[in-house]
Amino acid sequence: MFSFDLANDVFQENIENISTCEYETHHSCTTTTTTTTTITVPLSDQTQRSDTMEENKGLFDFEYKCPPGGKNAVIFYTTSLRGIRKTFEDCNTIRFLLESFRVVYYERDVSIHIEYRDELWRILGGRIVPPRLFIKGRHIGGADEVVGLHEQGILKKLLHGIPLISSNLPCKGCCGIRFVLCLSCHGCCKITYQDQGKDTNGYRIRCPKCNENGLIKCPVCS
Ligand SMILES: [Zn+2]
Ligand SMILES: [Zn+2]
Repeated sequence: MFSFDLANDVFQENIENISTCEYETHHSCTTTTTTTTTITVPLSDQTQRSDTMEENKGLFDFEYKCPPGGKNAVIFYTTSLRGIRKTFEDCNTIRFLLESFRVVYYERDVSIHIEYRDELWRILGGRIVPPRLFIKGRHIGGADEVVGLHEQGILKKLLHGIPLISSNLPCKGCCGIRFVLCLSCHGCCKITYQDQGKDTNGYRIRCPKCNENGLIKCPVCS
């Protein structure tokens, strides 16, 4: 479904940029710390206190527009449709950043599940195109905003306190796609209507369990 070759090219290109950014970020961060706190406090305490302040300040700067279940989590709206190249690549860029920080995040692919698209439109009050990133209920933005924040060293702070992933392996239930084929209709979205004791003559109805693509959320990871 995803083109890993293309993704790898983009990522490979980003890797060098990112390692440079991290160095710069760390460097400038240390400079700020020493100028804003008293010199009598040991260096490790200064860094810790400054980090906490920065972390809170950081998230409060963003508008509270919480996706369902996103109060304490990272929710990432994407699309796997490749119709608009930039949109697809923007999704890859944010995904790469989240994966490089190894944080647990929940990807909601609007091209697989239309409810996610409606959810996104409802939260942001318009026909918004992915990618869109939310951290602890705060709307962080799309690729330009997220990359900008990363370059300033802020993204890492916004992700502070988010659990880290413990394994590199994708979910065994869905291979990381977060959806599986509906067990009731096997993906065709129609089931034979059954009313006990009555002859329904093979009458077919819309399967009530799956989405528009005959998929249900992965029971293991969603
Ligand atoms: Zn179904
Ligand atoms: Zn899964």
